[in-house]
Amino acid sequence: MGISVEFGMSNRPDAGQLNVPSRILMGPGPSMISPRVREAMAAPALGYMDPDFLDVLDDIQELLQYTFQTDNDWTLATSGTGTAAMETTIGNLLEPGETMLVRESGYWGDRMAQMAHRVGGEVVSLDVSPTAPIDPDDVADAFADNDIDVFGFTHGDTTTGILQPDVAELASIARDHDAYTIMDCVTSLSGVEVQVDDWGVDAVYGSPQKCLSCTPGVTPLTVGDRAREKILDRETDPKSWYLDLTGVMEYWGDDPSYHHTPPTSSLYGLRESLRLVAEEGLEARWKRHRDVAGALVEGLEDLGLELFPDRDHWLPSLNTVRVPDGVDDAAVIDFLLSEYDIEIAGGLGELSGELWRIGCMGHSARHQNVAALLTGMEEALAAQEYDTSAIEA
Ligand code: PLP
Repeated sequence: MGISVEFGMSNRPDAGQLNVPSRILMGPGPSMISPRVREAMAAPALGYMDPDFLDVLDDIQELLQYTFQTDNDWTLATSGTGTAAMETTIGNLLEPGETMLVRESGYWGDRMAQMAHRVGGEVVSLDVSPTAPIDPDDVADAFADNDIDVFGFTHGDTTTGILQPDVAELASIARDHDAYTIMDCVTSLSGVEVQVDDWGVDAVYGSPQKCLSCTPGVTPLTVGDRAREKILDRETDPKSWYLDLTGVMEYWGDDPSYHHTPPTSSLYGLRESLRLVAEEGLEARWKRHRDVAGALVEGLEDLGLELFPDRDHWLPSLNTVRVPDGVDDAAVIDFLLSEYDIEIAGGLGELSGELWRIGCMGHSARHQNVAALLTGMEEALAAQEYDTSAIEA
């Protein structure tokens, strides 16, 4: 007679096999994952100290140096999303009692300020119009008036669609004051020109799920020699053990040892996405983003819509357009998703209801996606009886 065992838990979940739709992702990220990246992520698991896996890390470092245009030794993929990389740079470069300069308006400056406060730093804010990039003269004034140790700014702003020019000038102002720069390239890396060494920026992070078209979870980061020396000479340990770069580099350095278990399959994916960048070539990739997004903007303007930033500060990887008076922004977003399987997003924070944010990133940055989006947008606007008289015959 068999033994029958009765378990106390009676409601066994029956979720069924995963069945998600295939969408055209043209929001502020994630973008569509390249098929080659998806395949790479399905490769067999390896232990994180397996010599074959350590080769994967070496390849990633080399490919990232190309993508960032840097020779920095401290070039790696941090575990976690862009926010973890942001917190890594601030938590390692800023010591308690030191001062960080950030932009006051906008979503990301505020996030940087909150992180600076949490590590015990002081914050000085730059008062910049939400529709403009940071002006180097304002940065020079802020440095003249305050004792600033670290200056953090966003290169491609995903909330406003503004591309920050004059990066080399911003970095040189900070350097002249013995301060360090942190540049957020989450939305720009591999989609628009980023030159870490030529521009002289000290710590730069990107994102896997935007112009690299990989899965979220491992984030490109590079730290220059000057910033590395500051981190190694810190008087206090960084508050976060997990994000302490000196510890993390024990795994990513020349003689790897365990720090934490890295997300191995995501790193396979990142390696493949970076291989795609190298195959296409950075300049060709920047041009593709500009050309495809240029066609998108032209098509939207033909529909009578208006780009939010001035053309001089346009960020091709994230196009922000104003929602016309009388149009329900959320209804348009819902229409595109339900009728065309296309994801775009509305404004974030103080720009909620004011704009649509339309990404043109990595594998999603293709003319066929733009054509589908423009057709869907025209229909969505017509459904709201928006005056289409601006549409050219
Ligand atoms: N910085 C910018 C400019 C971003 O657009 C984002 C996210 O979209 C982040 C930082 C945070 O990245 P994540 O959401 O991957 O943590």
